[in-house]
Amino acid sequence: YSPSLTNLLNTMAPSLSPLRSHHVAVIGAGAAGLVAARELRREGHSVVVFERQKQVGGTWIYTDHVEPDPLSVDPTRPVVHSSVYATLRTNLPRECMGYRDFPFVVRSGGDQRRFPSHGEVLAYLQEFAKEFKIEEVIRFETAVERVAPATEGGSGKWRVESTETEKRVRRDEVYDAVVVCNGHYIEPRLAEIPGISSWPGKEMHSHNYRTPEPFKDQVVVLIGNSASAVDISRDIAGHAKEVHVAGRSNPADTYIKQPGYINLWMHSMIERVNKDGSVVFQNGQTILVDVIMHCTGYKYHFPFLETNGSVTVDDNRVGPLYKHVFPPELAPWLSFIGIPWQVVPFPLFELQSKWIAGVLSGRIMLPSKDDMMEDIKSLYATLEAQGIQKRYTHRMGIAQFEYNDWLASQCGCSETEQWRKEMYLTTGVRKKAHPETYRDEWEDHHLVSQAYQDFSFYTLTCNM
Ligand code: FAD
Repeated sequence: YSPSLTNLLNTMAPSLSPLRSHHVAVIGAGAAGLVAARELRREGHSVVVFERQKQVGGTWIYTDHVEPDPLSVDPTRPVVHSSVYATLRTNLPRECMGYRDFPFVVRSGGDQRRFPSHGEVLAYLQEFAKEFKIEEVIRFETAVERVAPATEGGSGKWRVESTETEKRVRRDEVYDAVVVCNGHYIEPRLAEIPGISSWPGKEMHSHNYRTPEPFKDQVVVLIGNSASAVDISRDIAGHAKEVHVAGRSNPADTYIKQPGYINLWMHSMIERVNKDGSVVFQNGQTILVDVIMHCTGYKYHFPFLETNGSVTVDDNRVGPLYKHVFPPELAPWLSFIGIPWQVVPFPLFELQSKWIAGVLSGRIMLPSKDDMMEDIKSLYATLEAQGIQKRYTHRMGIAQFEYNDWLASQCGCSETEQWRKEMYLTTGVRKKAHPETYRDEWEDHHLVSQAYQDFSFYTLTCNM
């Protein structure tokens, strides 16, 4: 991610050209849309945020409601946005998780824990929106239905069609630019299971999981190795008769009883399911099962977006996107925030937002279309050479910090704090080794102290 000379010169000499202000539509008022709105306004753009829910917070707005189709495959189903379940606590420590200049510190009367509940994250996002007066530019209960180029000739402008659900008001407007922040945890991916069409049990996706009580005395199989499979299996184990977790990446002979539990087992992947209700694992075990829960992640989905093929989703690769943000053909007038995964999301959203805002104003220059395409092709070639499948294009893990630092260099900001990087890595190791206790026992006290030293700058200036 080394910056080109042009980019470097432009970030170093921002005052040479007058800044331009644009009329920008932001789709979504979750963690990405909120910080996008703040950065765009800071840069002098006029902003309208479209949000189909009644409040800010996106996926952090917990609801008891689930979708009527437990697998969430019916395209006509009423969408319930949140995937958060009742007992969910963050899987990142709050110091690491918050935006860089609006630390996620404890509030009086709030959840004081380092890995707090979903409600505390929602409260934090609400405070962020309040502090930066973002609600005044949000149109709540307004769903974006169509985003398409405003003219065929390619003026760069976008037509945004939306419906305000309560009042049934339809709007058709033109914006200079659109920033897509619609989240990517609502359109489930499902595991392929031989024999599933005649299996008589119940199937669901973790998107529709809320509480463990309905699983009382049942035999449940969860598919997945991700954070949700780890957490939900333990949540359910307190109520279900048996819980079995099948992981595609587990060796074929995996069959391990989870220490500390009398009814929780790890398996290799499911080999097939049968008409009699049984599930056969690759390890040879056969079990009669009531429920299969797919904890198999989600697909990127932009049902409102029409780009004439300039942006596609192919095996969960959204592309082509320069640095996971700008489609070269439509840059900078269309951009995406929040595509990378296996990251610390909020600070990454913040840097992507600063970059987009600066590029739109002309303070930061993008390379030419051809150079952006070359960069994308070289990323794809590297992934291919490493044998990494398309669907992992946006998975970053440790590479996120190099990416963040590249964004920071474009924007003239400081790099990711050393303590944040170390905290992310330390937490990852502890999470793997101690999934039951990592949220309540830790050893990185020195990193917490360093974080709070940094935070004192922001908490003091915020309060002035
Ligand atoms: P969202 O929060 O999904 O917000 C998108 C918004 O766009 C929503 O409000 C939605 O209503 C709106 N929208 C969508 N389509 C339209 C439309 N057509 N018109 C109008 N509005 C629209 N991250 C962490 O940092 N720590 C964690 O511990 C953590 N745990 C997680 C646990 C779960 C179960 C899940 C699903 C995610 C977790 N994450 C965690 C990741 C989390 O998704 C991000 O932190 C972040 O909240 C994503 O923000 P977003 O704005 O991209 O998307």
